[in-house]
Amino acid sequence: MHKLGAVSRRPPREVHVPRLRTTAAVCTTMSALAATSLITAPSVAEPFSPEPCALERTEVHHSEGLDTWNAAYPRPARTLDAVMIFLSFPDSQPLTSPAELTADHFPATSRFFQQASYGAFTLRPHPMRDWIPMPSPSTSYAIRRDWRPEHRAAYLRDALRAADRHVDFSRYDVVYFVADPDAPGVDSDATKVVNLERPMRADGTALRRVVTVFENHPPDRLVLAHETGHVFDLPDLYHRPVGGEGDWDTHVGDWDLMGSQFGLAPDLFGWHKWKLG
Ligand SMILES: [Zn+2]
Repeated sequence: MHKLGAVSRRPPREVHVPRLRTTAAVCTTMSALAATSLITAPSVAEPFSPEPCALERTEVHHSEGLDTWNAAYPRPARTLDAVMIFLSFPDSQPLTSPAELTADHFPATSRFFQQASYGAFTLRPHPMRDWIPMPSPSTSYAIRRDWRPEHRAAYLRDALRAADRHVDFSRYDVVYFVADPDAPGVDSDATKVVNLERPMRADGTALRRVVTVFENHPPDRLVLAHETGHVFDLPDLYHRPVGGEGDWDTHVGDWDLMGSQFGLAPDLFGWHKWKLG
């Protein structure tokens, strides 16, 4: 009954998925992981033994099924470091500070995962203290929910180039690019995770994905936890209405964070917890 009203409840986010993997590539990655997981995390090597009720992995991106962990993704079975990079634009003077925007998401995001993992997983935020200026006006990137690849690529290229002088990307497992919420070209419906077919490189590190945050201030409740779920290879579980069929909550609703970023239930499915170790 405490659902947000239809007006203020904007739809959850989609994740853009430009990359497809071949079966051969998946197998190679998996055998590589099997070796390392035995060394680094013996306590979580077991969850992938066949269970009668386990869902089978399919070819879709972020498959719900699981046989082995996809090593292209960080697994939240240890402390992970996340950098927050705040991007301003020449067509807008920020009305908020990086510290205020950090407080929009932390400690709430870390606390969510701390509770969901029964204390096993810590997401450690590393917010930058200052705005990093982007070279082009916010409107030039045509930011929106269904973002065109060329505009998205320009945004990521500029953001990485601008931030690289200030950030050692080799130190972080998760990257959040947080845009000035008051810049005119920033669309709060466009927050998502961008998975890169060809990783960007910075500081000797391959960046396979980044979280592009375009939230209002204050943001949607737990939106960053939802997006971070994608960084851990979890799929969206909401239904995007097509032709007036159903609504965003038709399937899962708030019973899982990936069904609704508001996470009013407010946790992950047991299946997701098991997947994540
Ligand atoms: Zn999503």
